[in-house]
Amino acid sequence: MRRKLAAGNWKMNGERSTLGMLEALARAHSGGAVDIMICPPFTLIDAAAALSDAALITIGGQDCHSESAGAHTGDISADMLRAAGAGAVILGHSERRADHGETSDDVRAKARAAHEAGLIAIICVGESLAEREAQNTLDIIGGQLSSSVPDTATGENTVIAYEPCWAIGTGLTPTTDQIGEVHDFIRTRIERRFGAGVGRSVRLLYGGSVKGANAAEIFAVSNVDGALVGGASLSVDDFSPIISALE
Ligand code: PEP
Repeated sequence: MRRKLAAGNWKMNGERSTLGMLEALARAHSGGAVDIMICPPFTLIDAAAALSDAALITIGGQDCHSESAGAHTGDISADMLRAAGAGAVILGHSERRADHGETSDDVRAKARAAHEAGLIAIICVGESLAEREAQNTLDIIGGQLSSSVPDTATGENTVIAYEPCWAIGTGLTPTTDQIGEVHDFIRTRIERRFGAGVGRSVRLLYGGSVKGANAAEIFAVSNVDGALVGGASLSVDDFSPIISALE
């Protein structure tokens, strides 16, 4: 049985005072019915991990380097994230792929490093609007999956997030049929590559303009095990209803 997961991606937002919401979230969802994860900027990971009860809220990074140390100015290794108290890391987000030219091969190397450091890798895949309109969505997702997910993936150390690029921060969402088609496709691909045991235990998140108002409808779709949430994860008022929809 896959545990539901609500993961918040704060991107380049948040300050010390924003961390107050961790306690509020933990109080509001103290039953522990679903897994909750918050991925703040690097600068807040240490403080967030110190504040949060790891059993209730996992803290994650938003990227890591594929090597554990070295001459890589501005980068952070998976081991450093782990040492700062993180339990997970988002990898291959479309903003990283677009802004930093990250390829699926880069993402796979980072995910392997995350696994070696004991972190859960949340590996993002998703098509652009042009790719969807050209009816290439499943080809694109299939290619990203096979190149981005390392052989070290298990149900415990890997989560896959389907995030159509055109739905991120736009208020647009695919239809539930479109989400279901992609999630079923990802499940089949993962089962085929890793076998039924691992394939059925890897959690699949949907991400892209998830709000309290559309969460329940999205979570009812087959093979949707939760959400990766950007904008709506920045306040308790917006994030808590999404978590409640999973409980
Ligand atoms: C994201 O950036 O991962 C995301 C899903 O953003 P938003 O929820 O704001 O669309």
